[in-house]
Amino acid sequence: MIIKPVPCLKDNYAYLLLDPQANQAAVVDPVEPEKVKAALAEYPEYKLSAGRQELLTNQPFIYLLIYIYRILTTHHHWDHAGGNKKLLEQFPELTCYGGSNNVEGVNKIVGDKESFKVGQLEVIPLTTACHTMDHICYYVSDNGKNAVFTGDCIFSSGCGRFFEGTPQDMWESISKVAALPDSTHVYFGHEYTIANLKFAEHVEPENKEIQEKIAWAKRVGCTTPSTIQNEKLTNPFFRVQESSVQERVLGKDNKASPIEVLGKVRAMKDNF
Ligand SMILES: [Zn+2]
Repeated sequence: MIIKPVPCLKDNYAYLLLDPQANQAAVVDPVEPEKVKAALAEYPEYKLSAGRQELLTNQPFIYLLIYIYRILTTHHHWDHAGGNKKLLEQFPELTCYGGSNNVEGVNKIVGDKESFKVGQLEVIPLTTACHTMDHICYYVSDNGKNAVFTGDCIFSSGCGRFFEGTPQDMWESISKVAALPDSTHVYFGHEYTIANLKFAEHVEPENKEIQEKIAWAKRVGCTTPSTIQNEKLTNPFFRVQESSVQERVLGKDNKASPIEVLGKVRAMKDNF
């Protein structure tokens, strides 16, 4: 599979997901459809075969090309779902996946692990409530290469604000994503990495992985994708069971559940 980030708005990422075997395409959170279509134009072979070719019977040498894109929407916020209707107006045959009817343009609501295909790629939706209750992460694996599109649930070294859910909801969502293979590439919805890492360093000043990642992030600018393994090493919201994080949040020798610690780390970040 090929995954191509498409920077949108101020710091959002839409993504192209391409299956080279079937030459089929899907788009993730295409908030600015023109930018996503321009990115797709760099892969002309996908244009022709993303849908089906139909011979016009009265014009034997002219083919009508119907492009079938699929839209994978992570959640209902406008900066992710806000391009869906525009894209559907241009391509009414689109299948638009999402977690609830609150998602603009949704015509296929998916539940946990109700998998579907993009070409030959199996896409597995993971319900990951908290930032919004309809949040879906999409997991794709292809010949040992794995990827997950995490929207505003999980960022590089951070997580989304708890707008609709509780610390327990986010803990369940993080645990679900953390259970994916360590090598899984994590394609997140916003370029917040440096700000997230500054907070991560505040929580764990001694964490060498965080320090190295800050230097790397400053060098590369665009930090997508991360990996599950890297998140386990640098993301304070994944690390609420580590004694270093617990001590920072609770003080020395105090104990609390991962869910309580997660709530406290989120509150710290919201005021950082
Ligand atoms: Zn959001």
